[in-house]
Formats: sequence, structure tokens, C-alpha cells
Amino acid sequence: MEKRKLIIVGSGPAAYTAAIYAARANLNPLVYEGFFSGTAGGQLMTTTDVENYPGFPEGIMGPDLMIRFRAQAVRFHTTVLTEDVTAVDLSSHPFKVTANKTSAEADALIIATGATAKRLDIEGAGDGEFWQKGVSACAVCDGAAPLFRNKPLFVIGGGDSACEEAIFLTKFGSKVFLVHRRDKLRASKIMAERAMNHPKVEILWDSVVTKVEGSDVVGSVTIQNVHTKSEEKREAGGLFFATGFIPNVGFLNGQLELESNNYIKVTPGTTNTSVEGVFAAGDVQDHEWRQAVTAAGSGCMAALSAERWLSAQGLIE
Ligand SMILES: Cc1cc2nc3c(=O)[nH]c(=O)nc-3n(C[C@H](O)[C@H](O)[C@H](O)COP(=O)(O)OP(=O)(O)OC[C@H]3O[C@@H](n4cnc5c(N)ncnc54)[C@H](O)[C@@H]3O)c2cc1C
Repeated sequence: MEKRKLIIVGSGPAAYTAAIYAARANLNPLVYEGFFSGTAGGQLMTTTDVENYPGFPEGIMGPDLMIRFRAQAVRFHTTVLTEDVTAVDLSSHPFKVTANKTSAEADALIIATGATAKRLDIEGAGDGEFWQKGVSACAVCDGAAPLFRNKPLFVIGGGDSACEEAIFLTKFGSKVFLVHRRDKLRASKIMAERAMNHPKVEILWDSVVTKVEGSDVVGSVTIQNVHTKSEEKREAGGLFFATGFIPNVGFLNGQLELESNNYIKVTPGTTNTSVEGVFAAGDVQDHEWRQAVTAAGSGCMAALSAERWLSAQGLIE
């Protein structure tokens, strides 16, 4: 079985940044970039313009940015395998990693498998319909686009993120409607009050979105009352899902300590997990910031931490 000093699982900004740092430090990293488990290249492969990643003043398309991340990792001789890691064994050292076709051992491991935005199955909101044409899963990323300016915007959700995203969108939309299927928000008291008291936010209680329509981009949404089933079509410039993310941790099979929301638990301010020699970077351990630049930053931290740990164990010179 092949043995590496460092294996990185994942392929978003966190994984490739970790690979760039590790490869330049001669750790000869192996990256499992995934195949079926999300799009190789990560969440940015599913979006168009990225306007807030530093270094690209004109903006850059998400897939183009990720092609550059990958190319930079490969330039320094990172090995990339287009396979999903299906299991790991962290009970003994070196750690064992099993993927679709290959398996390998590693002295240190970086988990950077990201998170998957929950998308609701609403007529008109899918791929090839209005997804990315006014339907988004990231208000912070997409909200400033001209498409949404001075239009009524709709956010689906009832937690802290939904309230935060609704308030954020008031900077751009003419009005923001928070569509919540219950009669009470799940958000913390302070966030709920902020949303409810905001002059540009209106909460549509006991409601769901059943349809998205438009021409080139979103033009209207249909709102249904969950009790009466009555429906109303409303003008809309955008629809944002704020219904949460699922961190991609299934293959760990409970071997790393997780937060109550299933994100990997790290020691605050570090990428150290509950198992020595295993580090976590990017959205798989971050339910708060969830941005490409923060994922890349923590990928850098994980690679430097792995290098220091390997050195402290006498596993590298
Ligand atoms: C629609 C959308 C638009 C966005 N726009 C922006 C933006 O404009 N600016 C910004 O800063 N952020 C944006 N974000 C957020 C940003 O994409 C994420 O914060 C960032 O991609 C997280 O990076 P990551 O490295 O943690 O992993 P991810 O990007 O989540 O990628 C992880 C990848 O790892 C791979 N993987 C998963 N499981 C396995 C496995 N078992 N084995 C092998 N590989 C695996 C998969 O291919 C997965 O896609 C957007 C997100 C979305 C959904």
C-alpha cells in the first residue's frame, strides 16, 4: 500500500491551499479530490462570478478560480486522484485511507471535504431552471450582484443564518421577505428581533415557496400558506435558500469528534481535531464564515500545522 507523509481529502479552496503549502514544504501530498461526493473543485464550481476573492479586481468565474487553485497545487507536484474517500482508519498510525479504487497510508491527514448547501426541491429553482439565475444558496456571496438591486427578494429559512442573510440583503433589495414555514423563528432571540424589527424585512409566517418563474432570470415566486394552502404569486428579483448546510463527514464514521451540528470539532483558533495528526480545514469545520478566502486561510493553517506536527514527531527532518 502506498505510504505518504500527508494525505488531503477534499478539493475546494481549503484542500488545494493546504496542498500548495504542503507541496512547497516537500511533504509530497496526495489529494483525493472526490468524484461522486460533490463536484471536484468544491462549491465554487457551482457558481458564476466570484467578486470577493482577493486578487481578482474584475471578479472571476468560480470554476476558473478552482482550476487555478488546482493547477497551482499540481505545479508543485501534488498528486491528485479523482476518487472519493469512502473510509478512514484513525485508530492506529499511520492512518489508513480507503478510496473508490485505491487505498493509502498517511502520517498526517487533512480533512477538507467542505459542506453541501441544502437546496429545496422547488419547481423552477433547479439546475437548468433558475438556479444561479436569481436563485442562490449564498446571500453574502451573490447578494451584491446587479440582478438583485432594488427588487423584492425572498429568503427561505427561520434560523440565525436566514435572519442574517435577510438583513444583509436589505442593502440591495427594495424589500426582503423571509419565508418561514412555522409561526415562530428558530433563530436566537437577538437575531429574530433584529429581523422582525427591520423596516425592510417582512416575515411571511406559515409559508413556503412552491414555484419560481421568470424569463431569463427570476421574476416571481409563488407563496403558499401551509394551513389554508392558498397561493399568491409575488414579484421577485431573487430567492435565497438559507436552510443550512450538511458538512461532508460521513466517511469518517464517527472517528473524529463533531460539534452538535455535525461539523468537525477543532480546538478554537487551530485546525487540530480530536485525533493527533489529523487536521480539518474549510467549511467542514466552519459553520460561521463559510467563504472561499476563510477556507483557503484554514487550509494554509492545516498544512503548516501538519508540517510542524510531523516534524515534532520526528517523521520529517
Ligand atoms: C452557490 C455558492 C456560491 C458561493 N459563492 C461564493 C463567493 O462568491 N465567494 C466566497 O468567498 N464564497 C462563496 N461560496 C462559499 C464557498 O464556495 C465555500 O466557502 C468554499 O468553497 C468552501 O471551501 P472548502 O475548501 O471548505 O470546500 P468545498 O468548496 O465545500 O469543497 C469540498 C469538496 O471536497 C470534495 N469531497 C467531499 N467529500 C469527499 C470525499 N469523501 N472524498 C474526496 N473528496 C471529497 C467534494 O468535491 C467537495 O466539493 C459560495 C458557495 C455556494 C454554494
